[in-house]
Amino acid sequence: MSETILPDERTAQVPAATRTGRRQVRPVAEGWTQQLAADGRPALQFASPRRKQPETHLADLTPAERTAKVEELGLPAFRAKQLSTHYFTHCTTDASAMTDLPASGREELVSALLPPLLTEVRRLRTDDGRTIKFLWRLFDGALVESVLMRYPGRITLCISSQAGCGMNCPFCATGQAGLTRNLSAAEIVDQVVAANRAIAQGELGHRPSGAPERVHNIVFMGMGEPLANYKRLMTAVRTLLAPQPDGLGMSARGITVSSVGLVPAIRKLADEDIPLTFALSLHAPDDGLRDELIPVNSRWKVDEALDAARYYFEKTGRRVSIEYALIKDMNDHAWRADLLAQKLNERGRGWVHVNPIPLNPTPGSIWTASERDVTAEFVHRLESAGIPTTLRDTRGKEIDGACGQLAAAE
Ligand code: SAH
Repeated sequence: MSETILPDERTAQVPAATRTGRRQVRPVAEGWTQQLAADGRPALQFASPRRKQPETHLADLTPAERTAKVEELGLPAFRAKQLSTHYFTHCTTDASAMTDLPASGREELVSALLPPLLTEVRRLRTDDGRTIKFLWRLFDGALVESVLMRYPGRITLCISSQAGCGMNCPFCATGQAGLTRNLSAAEIVDQVVAANRAIAQGELGHRPSGAPERVHNIVFMGMGEPLANYKRLMTAVRTLLAPQPDGLGMSARGITVSSVGLVPAIRKLADEDIPLTFALSLHAPDDGLRDELIPVNSRWKVDEALDAARYYFEKTGRRVSIEYALIKDMNDHAWRADLLAQKLNERGRGWVHVNPIPLNPTPGSIWTASERDVTAEFVHRLESAGIPTTLRDTRGKEIDGACGQLAAAE
């Protein structure tokens, strides 16, 4: 890692007095080789390599398509609802448990509409059993992870939208192997159904009342860039939101889509008219640094990403989250907190909050989290400028289950 001061043109937007003081560490991939494009910049992979997709599953289809498929198999339409109830409500794909379906043809129906998608490779626990990381193998051998977390009063699942990721952020373990492929809508939904099954089996313990529990919140902060897999993401989201038995009956507010900042897709998401929570992984308020930290910044600059985030708020009324991983001497300077606050306030009040997260070191890297006092100062500067700020601590570090640590290796 080099410790140069950024060249002047990079910091030109920052008043000279605020640039002095601490050193500036530049983002350089450590312990692995970052793929470069022909122009010498970090490579970006927007399109998924053409690979075979898994067999079509109930959760890839709309309720009308499910009925059509069941009728194609020569069965009455209401069988689709029964099958959906088994899958979404009871989390079961076991034909022998579906005793309300006639025994003859049951196996065929299940294998036609509920092909197995995720095979469990490993399950790791930490935080006294309140955090569980699942490693899944997909039909073609690709690996993905999801992380289940119990918090007081809610259960959150962090899910993957792609196997690997094409966004090539130098601080994130997922990007290091590039993008393998997009997940299908059902591969996304099945992570939630599998988590609900694990909860029902008592994997996260039980409530004192013994009342059944399910995943309340979903964050698309696992592997992949959800907005680079837009169509399947939205199919999955619609199924997560659909009332039972057509889907999981979840609330849109409880689902957070997190993005590096694919501006046209953020605007498209805003126009869907679904009050999902949107999080922008900003990590730097100045293009000089963000160009290197978040390679997609070469396409869409900080101001464009913030304008799109503001548009998201205007269209949906949902307060946007700004993710900011605090990296020692790289993006944690007080002047950057001031610049961030300024850029957010320029776009109005009450539309955004900031979630700084101390960086989780990636394996083989010497990138480290900011010092405690630096973190406190960063938060203080934002708060004094009137920006609601919540310092996050990510769960699951000990099992490489925290943000940016998902690499899905066996
Ligand atoms: N591609 C999406 C979602 C996946 S990552 C996105 O970038 O938003 C989820 C969050 O974890 C993002 O804010 C990402 O920047 C952050 N992250 C990645 N690596 C991290 C690390 N090592 N420490 C802390 N946060 C990290």
